[in-house]
Parts: sequence; C-alpha cells; structure tokens
Amino acid sequence: MVIRIRLIFLLLVITGKGFLFAQPFTITESTPSVFISNGAKYLIDKSNTISVEQINSKDLFNSRQGSSTPVFKENIRSVWVRFETLNQSSHEVFLDIPYTNIGSVSLYRLQHDSIVFIETSGNNIPVNKYEPGNPNIVFNLHLPQNVQTVYYLHVESVHPIILPMYLSTRESLVSSSAIKNFFIGFYFGLLMVAFFYNFFLFVSTKDINYFYYILYVFALILAQLCASGYGYFYLWPNSPGVNTLSLLWASYFSGITAFIFSIFFLRIKFYLPKVFPYLLVIFFIYLVGLIASLFDAYSLSYTILNYNSLFNGVLALIISILIIKKGFKTAVFYLIAWASFLVSVIILVLRNLNILPYNNFTASSIYIGSAIEIILLSIALADRINTLKKEKELSQAEALQRATENEKLVNEQNILLEQKVNLRTTELQTTNNQLNSTLANLKDTQTQLVEAEKMASLGQLTAGIAHEINNPINFVKSNITPLRLDVKDLMEVLNAYNELHTLNGDPNKYKQKLESIKELKEDIDLPYVQKEINNLIAGIEEGAERTAEIVRGLRTFSRIDEAALKLVNIHDGLLSTIVLLKNNIPYYVKVVKDFQSQGEIECFPGKLNQVFMNILTNAVQAITSKPNRLEEETLTIKTRDLDDGLIEVSIKDSGMGMTEEVKHRIFEPFFTTKDVGEGTGLGMAIVFKIIQKHNGKINIITAPGEGAEFIITLPNRYQGQEGQD
Ligand code: ADP
Ligand code: MG
Repeated sequence: MVIRIRLIFLLLVITGKGFLFAQPFTITESTPSVFISNGAKYLIDKSNTISVEQINSKDLFNSRQGSSTPVFKENIRSVWVRFETLNQSSHEVFLDIPYTNIGSVSLYRLQHDSIVFIETSGNNIPVNKYEPGNPNIVFNLHLPQNVQTVYYLHVESVHPIILPMYLSTRESLVSSSAIKNFFIGFYFGLLMVAFFYNFFLFVSTKDINYFYYILYVFALILAQLCASGYGYFYLWPNSPGVNTLSLLWASYFSGITAFIFSIFFLRIKFYLPKVFPYLLVIFFIYLVGLIASLFDAYSLSYTILNYNSLFNGVLALIISILIIKKGFKTAVFYLIAWASFLVSVIILVLRNLNILPYNNFTASSIYIGSAIEIILLSIALADRINTLKKEKELSQAEALQRATENEKLVNEQNILLEQKVNLRTTELQTTNNQLNSTLANLKDTQTQLVEAEKMASLGQLTAGIAHEINNPINFVKSNITPLRLDVKDLMEVLNAYNELHTLNGDPNKYKQKLESIKELKEDIDLPYVQKEINNLIAGIEEGAERTAEIVRGLRTFSRIDEAALKLVNIHDGLLSTIVLLKNNIPYYVKVVKDFQSQGEIECFPGKLNQVFMNILTNAVQAITSKPNRLEEETLTIKTRDLDDGLIEVSIKDSGMGMTEEVKHRIFEPFFTTKDVGEGTGLGMAIVFKIIQKHNGKINIITAPGEGAEFIITLPNRYQGQEGQD
C-alpha cells in the first residue's frame, strides 16, 4: 500500500512532454512552459564532494536515458544539473520544480566563465521564500531576453532525489498551480469527508473497523500532505526540519494502518487462518524499516518501504480474491478499490513510458485512483457493517423465532398441564367428597356404636340390677304369707277378746269365754307367733333395706347421662359400679377395696363411672376367660392422693393379662380380641377419650398370664374443657 505513496511521487515527478534534444530550452510567447528534466544534463555526486569550481572546470555532465523525469537511487544524496535557456518572450522566466521533498536546491548561473550563486530553496529552507500560492520549489531565473544562459543546480537530500523541472512564465506558473490547487483541494476535501464520515460512524457504532479505517485515512492524508508539499507549504511553513522525516514516516504510517485495516476488514484470521501468521512478517518488516529510519539509514528504510509495499499490494489483491471465493461478498468492494488504485499506478507507469500521452487525466491518475479507493472502501465498510448487521438481525430473528416457538410449546404444555391439573382437581374433589361422606357415615356409625356400647353396658347393668333386687324382694315376699297367717291367729285372739263386751257383764259366760280364749292362745302358741312376727318383720325390713341400697347405687351410677360438672366422691362411683357388677362377678373372685384417697373430685361423674364400668367389666371378663383359674382370684381397687392435687385410681385384676401388641392397640377403636357379639372394641377407646377429657392419664401394667393393672391419674379439680360430648 505504501507503494502508492511512492507512486504519487512519480505523478508529481513525471509531467514532462519529452523534449529530448531541446537545447537551449526556449520560452516564447506561444510556449510559456517547457519541461526540461529530460533535456538537462546531470552529474551524480555520490560522495557529495564536488565543488562549484570543479563543476566549471570539467565537463562532467551526462544526458540521462530512460524515463523523462529522473528518479535517482535511494543512496544518491547529491546531484548536479546543467541546463541552458533562452527567453524569447517578454515575460520573466521561472524554474518550477513541482516536487517538494528535496532537502535543498541551490541555483547558480554561468556568467563570464565563472559560476555565480543565485539562491537556495527546498525543504530545509523556510517556505516564505517560495512563490505565493504554490508549494513547488520555484526560482526566478532573472533571465535577460534573448541571451542564452547556462544554469547549474545543486540538489542535496536525504530523500530519494526526483527532479521534475519546468521553465515557465509567471502566468503559466500561476494558472497551472491554480488548477492543481483546486484539484488537490478537492482531493483533500474528499479525504476529510471520508475521515469525518467514518469517524462519526465509529463513534456511533463503536465498530473497531471504522477506527482502523479512519487511522488509515488519516495516515493517507498525512502522507499526501507531505508528498504534495502542501503540508509544508500551508501547515508547517516555518519548520523545515519537520520535512526531513515526515514523508518517510507518514508513508510507513499509512502502510502499517492500511495493513492493519485490511487484516481486520477482510477478516483474514477467520477466512485464512493458516495465512494469517505469515502476514505478521510484513508487519515486522515495516517495523524494521521504521527503526532503520531512526538510525539515519534512510536509503535502507526507503528500500524496505518500497519492496514491502509492493509485495504487500500484490498480496492484498490475491488475498481479497481468495476471500471472495470463500464467500465474503464485501471483499469485492475491497478488490475493486484496490484494483482501481493499481490501475491508476499502471496508467502512471505507461505514461512515464510515453505509451500514454501526458494530460490532466494521466497526471492525476494517482489522485483519482486513491480517491476512488477511499470512496469504495467507505462503501465497502458500510456494506460490511450492513452485512454483519443483517447476519446479526437474521440470527436475532432466528433466535426470536425459536424463542416464540419455545414459548408456544411452553404455552401448549401449560394448557395441557392446566387441563390435567383441572382433571386431577375434579377427581380429587370427587374423592374428597366421597371421603367426606364416608367420614360422615363413619361418624354416624361410630355414634351408633358408642350408643350400642352404652346400651350393652346398660343391658349388663339391668341384668345385674334385676338380679340384685330380686333377692331381697323375694325375701320380703316369702315372709309375707307366714306373717299374714300369724296376724290371722292374732286377730282371732283379738276378736275373742272383743266378744267379751257382748256378754253384758254375765260372769259365767265371762268365765267361760276367758277359758276358751285361754285355750285358743295355747292352741295358737301366742308367744311363738309374736316371736315369729318380729322375725318376719325384721326379715322384711332387711329385704327393703337391701333393695333401697341397690336403688341408691343405681341412682349414683345412673349419673352416666348427667351432663353437669360436679364435685363428687370418687369412691361413690367405684362402689356403685361394683354393686351393679356384683351379679357378673363370680363367687371365687375376691374384690379388695383399698380406698386411701380423700376421694373428692370435680368431674363429669356419669362419664367417670362409665370408665370404671368399662375397666371393671374387662377385668372380670379377663378373669373369667382365664384358662386355669385359681381357687381365689382377686380384683383390687385402690385409690390414693398424689402430689399436685392428683388422684390415682388403680384397678388390678388377676386375669389372663395382655401381650405387648394388645396393650399397644388397646385404645384403638374397634380393637377387640373377643368374639363377635362379646366385644365391640370400643370400651377402652371410650375410656381413653373420657380420661383425656378430664386431663388425666391412663397407664397399663400387664403381661400375658400376669393379670393387668390400669392406673388412672386424674386432677381433683377439673382442668379440661367445659361441657360434655
Ligand atoms: P372389648 O372389651 O369390647 O373387646 P375393649 O376396648 O374394652 O373392647 O378392650 C379391648 C381389648 O383389650 C379387649 O378385647 C382385650 O383383649 C383387652 N383387654 C382389655 N382389658 C383387659 C384386661 N383387664 N385384661 C386383659 N385384656 C384386656
Ligand atoms: Mg370391653
């Protein structure tokens, strides 16, 4: 890419028309401008040791063959030029060198066989010596009319020496520089537009490619400013020192930035990953050239710049074609941009070889080529960004579509799920309803069963009561007939005595009557009758007494259905329960009562009696169903007061006892080991519930064959909930 900068020099250099044998160079009214580079004679002074005197004494000058504008090798630092002129016009004549990168150019005139110094100009001289509005190196020859005059130029430079030279009238100089200024102004304007346009794009998109591109454009502007001399002329006119290295460095700068831009723009790392590392060599060579310039090795630095840029330029074409083939369409713009520049170079070369004519187009082909390049690269960059944007949009659209599909899927799944959940919920609801009604049924059944259990205990009770009452009543009943007979005898005696009043005082009859009464008494055995009556009445009394006792017990027990919380004696409940159960207790069972508690308790007495009844019934059943009964079995009922206002009631039987499993499940409703009809399995469940309601506790100590002891502890003041259920 930097080759271009070098070629721009050529453009500025090669503008001649090719006067091969025009000596002296003549300015007339009709030819106000003459190109003299190809007719002048040159002396290469490699060692820069030849003096002005030596120049005059020997004929050391040679004509140059080849290209019309001399381009000396990089290692040549000093050149002498000799040309002859003739002014046939009425105007002043100027020497115009439209190449500005020359350190110094000194002008001499041959005057009466001696060489006279006129003036020095060039890069090392401040600009204000130049012609106004023209950055070229310009000398006023002060050429007298129609006098053939010989001039010498001594050119010294650290840059490669290129010498395009014109003889011009002021008018022609001004008009050519005006055209050039306009053209160059347009050119730089274009570059500035490209720079700012892409700068703003960079700021807004933050795409690094724009940054590399504006760097490159900036470097190009710098290089062109240096190459064209406009930078020196307009921007740093009083600092000739800047010029020494500015062109070289600006060229390197543009070469390197173009290189970096191309690498990123063409995405070489992505498309040609294998080639990429080798390209870094080019970069490395640029660096070497730059470093060389720092050590005053200018010719080496220029050589490296030229060959590296040439190589780089051709490579860029090949690589861009390869990358287009790989499918990166935007590289087409790059290729055209690059090719258009190369075409402009070819035009330049062809013109220099005089195959193409010298005209405004050929003279400015490099400017046109680089301008087209800059414009196309700007378009390429925009296209690249668009492509990337489109790719991104496409992938975004794809992602969006995928997301939408996913969402749709999720939604469908959700709907499905919802339906399932609804179905399950309905099913659950139904099941729940069924369960509820089942539960209600169960509760009903339970209530019925509890009633049944109550009825069963009541039935037992009734039987017990009937039996209990039957005995004393029978006893009373059997005494009544003998009593009635005894009373009849007594009444007879009494009647006999009553008849005494009817005798009206007749002593005989009186005596007689008394005699018969005496006999009657003896007959009846009155003392015996009296004694028997007493006995019979005592018997009746006892029977009545026992009946009354049973009825009292029943009354106590019948608190079963009493709802109120009452302060009662717990022993009353226990005793009445035992009375009612008496009929069921076999004769061989000894009931031991060991009441140590003071007995007072606040409770639902009916409920508590039910507890005793259930436990005692079970105890009796456990004893009676014991396989090998002893001569005497025992049923022990103990009460005692504990601390903290607790009463303990222990009911212990010598029955068959329980296994661990039975003990474990004893409070389960419907758990029974008894045959159908014998047990409901609800007794102990009810017991548990009632004890719980009274805030009490129940413990069982038992083992198979060892009997069972039920220990109930109850607070003597009710602490549970009010009300009965
Ligand atoms: P049921 O008496 O109708 O069987 P319970 O709830 O009153 O129902 O008793 C449950 C079970 O507990 C009884 O079937 C019995 O196996 C056992 N059980 C209760 N009390 C005793 C006891 N004193 N001795 C041995 N087993 C008992
Ligand atoms: Mg029972």
